Amino acid sequence: MIAALLRRRRDVADKWHKGGLWYATPGDGRATTVEQRAELAPLWTPIFNAALAAGARNDQCLPRVGLPHYSVKLFMTQTLRHDRLRAFVGRIASLVDDETPEAALLEAGAVALRELIAHDDWLPDAFARPDPERYQQFLLHADSRQRFSIVSFVWGPGQSTPVHDHTVWGLIGVLRGAEIAQHYRAAPHGDLVEEGAPQRLDTGAVAAVSPRIGDIHRVRNAFGDRTSISIHVYGGNIGAVSRSVYPCGGGRKNFVSGYSNDVLPNIWNVSKESPIS
Ligand code: FE
Repeated sequence: MIAALLRRRRDVADKWHKGGLWYATPGDGRATTVEQRAELAPLWTPIFNAALAAGARNDQCLPRVGLPHYSVKLFMTQTLRHDRLRAFVGRIASLVDDETPEAALLEAGAVALRELIAHDDWLPDAFARPDPERYQQFLLHADSRQRFSIVSFVWGPGQSTPVHDHTVWGLIGVLRGAEIAQHYRAAPHGDLVEEGAPQRLDTGAVAAVSPRIGDIHRVRNAFGDRTSISIHVYGGNIGAVSRSVYPCGGGRKNFVSGYSNDVLPNIWNVSKESPIS
């Protein structure tokens, strides 16, 4: 539907001029406008509903969709569900506080991560933006004692990691799109060999890594024409962990990944949130 609307936009691109900026609240479907053009409401409403049906998300400014002689910009103003990430942080913290053995932690953590990524209404856009040059690694939360960290990985079309390890446990859950992971293991002669077939993770899927169960892989966006996003939780401050990449020519190189962001999402401003049932 969006594609059809965008095609329509191209059709009218030459007529696309100052137009009106339209802002909408998804809850009741009513529009408020900066430039009140009430006569456009009958045209606007089906476009907005189509955008919602096609998966438009909170705070997402869609490309302007052309109408003959006008433009429409959709802007969702619904509050982000910070409570979802907050609850996930709490569940991982409890598992870590309880010194849960790794296997049980990965199992319970996977349940929590699956619940987190079952909804796509909580990740702020600033931590979901791809970069044309390389995949992005946005820190969303770090435990105060660096026992765990939560990261959004944003894959632009066709982007991939080098072969790398983690040295700590990790869980990977796909929030948008899909990714493909190829696992590796060290052969007796020291070289890496592929371990099994590539594993495709679609939206909603969760996978685990750790030195105990297999820690070396290469990951890529399954799509060449769209962004994919996965949410990861690791048993350390992953951006500061000293680990390795494995160049194709053999051997290994030390690396510390760092993060792509300098500021974190504020998920703790609870007083500003309306009660959530
Ligand atoms: Fe990885």
